[in-house]
Amino acid sequence: LSDPSDEPIRMRTISLAGISAASRAELLKRPVLRSDEMIAKVKPIVDAVRKGGDAALLELTAKFDKATITSPILRPPFSPESMELPDEVRAAIDTAYANIRKFHAAQTSSAPLIVETSPGVVCSRFARPIARVGLYVPGGTAILPSTALMLGVPAQVAGCQEIVLATPPRPDGSISPEVMYVAQLVGASAILTAGGAQAVAALAYGTESVPKVDKVFGPGNQWVTAAKMLVQNDTDALVSIDMPAGPSEVLVVADRTANPVFVAADLLSQAEHGVDSQVVLASINLSPALIEAIEYEVDRQARVLPRVEIMRESIPKSIIVHASSLDEALEFSNDYAPEHLILHVERAADVVDKVNNAGSVFVGPYTPESCGDYASGTNHTLPTNGYARQFSGVSTQSFQKHITSQEITREGLETLGPVVATLADREGLGAHANAVRLRLQT
Ligand code: NAD
Repeated sequence: LSDPSDEPIRMRTISLAGISAASRAELLKRPVLRSDEMIAKVKPIVDAVRKGGDAALLELTAKFDKATITSPILRPPFSPESMELPDEVRAAIDTAYANIRKFHAAQTSSAPLIVETSPGVVCSRFARPIARVGLYVPGGTAILPSTALMLGVPAQVAGCQEIVLATPPRPDGSISPEVMYVAQLVGASAILTAGGAQAVAALAYGTESVPKVDKVFGPGNQWVTAAKMLVQNDTDALVSIDMPAGPSEVLVVADRTANPVFVAADLLSQAEHGVDSQVVLASINLSPALIEAIEYEVDRQARVLPRVEIMRESIPKSIIVHASSLDEALEFSNDYAPEHLILHVERAADVVDKVNNAGSVFVGPYTPESCGDYASGTNHTLPTNGYARQFSGVSTQSFQKHITSQEITREGLETLGPVVATLADREGLGAHANAVRLRLQT
């Protein structure tokens, strides 16, 4: 048998020229698991926490995270020792926090929208924070303080009162100092030391010690995602979720100006997320020499990266799609609706106008996706699996709801009332019509 390390780490190549509709549709699909099967698997876990409360939560934490803890909730003030970090890490988190905060603070719609639709009829719409939010920060295979920032900052900026940050404990029962530090920065009111479906259930239903929340946010593995989908459909839980999240993905559009080293690095930065991550390169008439240079770089860079074994699985599932023009490449990208879209093309800023479906766009050769993942200011919790067609990424508005209001004067009602009464009569709703007519008779 040959040594797998000798085999090149290579993507598949497909040309869009003359491709059948069925093959094109196949290209747009992601390697995802069936959600109904996963939902059936998480149901016993969710039910156990719902019925058994803290005791069940602690038991499941011992089973899945191998951690024995006595209480699932930590409340501030968090001890300084639990947040001890090297100075450069603390400074990097502080800079990321400042940039993310600046961008998300600008998204608050604090001023109400007020429109006088006809004389004496004033309609308005204003935002209020969602009172209690649960932020899931994955912790199974990596510590993710960046996700804690991406969820915690908009919750803080929106003014949510109860911010419960949930993350799986380490085997000794503790939470990483990076996540503890971010929890303190964003003003978390509690930390739930639990992961997976059991954490989502505790947030959705509450337990003796875990506060029930109104909305659950955050990425996670298939257990977390399935539990979020399950609880949002339970009217007893009365909880919503940010979006159905799945494995990370990127689509890179490259033309003859693209630097093969940069393109390969960007492809790999997504391919290292997990074995089910998918990366796509849409080439616009790239020469065989440039394609070869990109393929060479993918292989060369992957081999020396710590997560090479993950890339050995994710890169062969990924594709290079040949397009014959910028428009054809963008049409494919819009149909694919990638979570992240990188534009390695000439005059990239002008191409943004052609983007209709994407979670977040990275414009030009010096805009690596990693910057958006950590510190430029935009949010990294984004729709995957083609959901960028109808979902936006997490923003400050995800932590708010909007209330409409109206105030009508006597004069306004004299004009609008007959319209309303006519429509109410047509619908056979006499009490509706009466509410107008009785007022106009006075
Ligand atoms: P995780 O915190 O999502 O999951 C860990 C938990 O899964 C454990 O606490 C355990 O309770 C549960 N679990 C694991 N195996 C189980 C089993 N057999 N039965 C029941 N429960 C089980 O951490 P993870 O596993 O490292 O996954 C993180 C995921 O989040 C990755 O897929 C990553 O790509 C994704 N992610 C996405 C983004 C994004 O913005 N899209 C950001 C960060 C992470």
